[in-house]
Amino acid sequence: MNILIVDDDANARKTLGDILKANGFEVEEAATGSEGVRSCEAKFFNLVLIDVRLPDISGLEVLQAVRALHDEESVLIMITSYASLDSSLEAMNKGAFSYFTKPINIDAALVVITKGLEKQRLSLDNKRLFKELAEANKKLEELDKRKSYFVSNVSHEIKNPLTVIRESMKLLLDNLVGKVNPEQKEILEMGKRSTERLIRLASDLLDLQKIEAGMMDLRKEKIAMDALVWEVIQNFEIELFKKRLNFQKEIQANSGFLFGDRDKLTQVFINLLSNAIKYTPEGGNIVVKLEGNEKEIRFEIVDSGQGIPEGQREMIFNKYTRLMTEKQEGTGLGLPIVKEIVELHKGRVWVESEPGKGSRFIFTMPRDCRAEVPRLEQPRAVVPSVGS
Ligand code: ADP
Repeated sequence: MNILIVDDDANARKTLGDILKANGFEVEEAATGSEGVRSCEAKFFNLVLIDVRLPDISGLEVLQAVRALHDEESVLIMITSYASLDSSLEAMNKGAFSYFTKPINIDAALVVITKGLEKQRLSLDNKRLFKELAEANKKLEELDKRKSYFVSNVSHEIKNPLTVIRESMKLLLDNLVGKVNPEQKEILEMGKRSTERLIRLASDLLDLQKIEAGMMDLRKEKIAMDALVWEVIQNFEIELFKKRLNFQKEIQANSGFLFGDRDKLTQVFINLLSNAIKYTPEGGNIVVKLEGNEKEIRFEIVDSGQGIPEGQREMIFNKYTRLMTEKQEGTGLGLPIVKEIVELHKGRVWVESEPGKGSRFIFTMPRDCRAEVPRLEQPRAVVPSVGS
């Protein structure tokens, strides 16, 4: 530990210097303020003792000049007489650690010096740790980027051949390359369903990487929301029927237009509806509601399934946190993607649920429709349900 004493009184410098040396410190001396600043420019001192009254510049000026010099902070202690106590207090406000009044009580001074140096050590340790942490974080970010790039590439490479397999199966199923018998048809249907699941998984992974890279963007157009919801529902009619689900639609016929991304909003409806079907036991109930006012669209999907415990309702929208107890097939990627798409549309999505009784997923979205706001009619009567 090295200490610089800046004092024009040669005797005082020598006495203090000798005591500090006897206590294991390396000591250098400066007789004027400018000499003190020059020494500090040349190298870092752990501690600088500065006399408030110096022949050339004031001790306060020395303090400010030294403060501005190094990244690491020297511990600065003022030496003062009672007459110049005010300057020392000002120096404390400007960053001095403490001050000694003349004649210096050496035992007390050594305690203060030790405290100052200990504080400095802790602060230097902190800085070093922060630096190490920042470097480790940078490395992790780099690795994370590489991982994302790898996952995207692999997902892409998997998705393309899978699409070819699905299309080939479709050709067979449509009897375009010869007639298939009912048994072959069943096997092909099974293969097609599994292939479609894998394609969805690859697409979800690609979407997630896009979200993480902040690169998911929207291709917005004017969309009639009721028509979009009807379209999605039609694609699920067979599944609803197979599970003998009692399905109700409360779709406000003229719920109006929304300025949004058609494919991504379709994905939101598909994810929420397929979850409702997946997590509702046979013979259960599902209700889909869509309504809108001048400002926003509100969509709800209510099911009578297993429900979601309170502590997990926020978690299910987070990436990579699929509920551990889950027995159903799935990846836990659907809802994080839903959330991202809804939020990109400046909307909000959440779930209300009573475990054992069911869940209600809700999202609202501002219309943000560049076209005219439609005049709203009264909600249409509930349309007869598919499964009932
Ligand atoms: P996945 O269904 O592939 O697991 P999701 O992100 O779509 O992924 O859903 C995350 C989790 O949220 C599910 O694993 C499930 O625990 C829970 N969940 C989602 N929808 C429902 C629902 N309608 N009823 C009960 N639990 C649900």
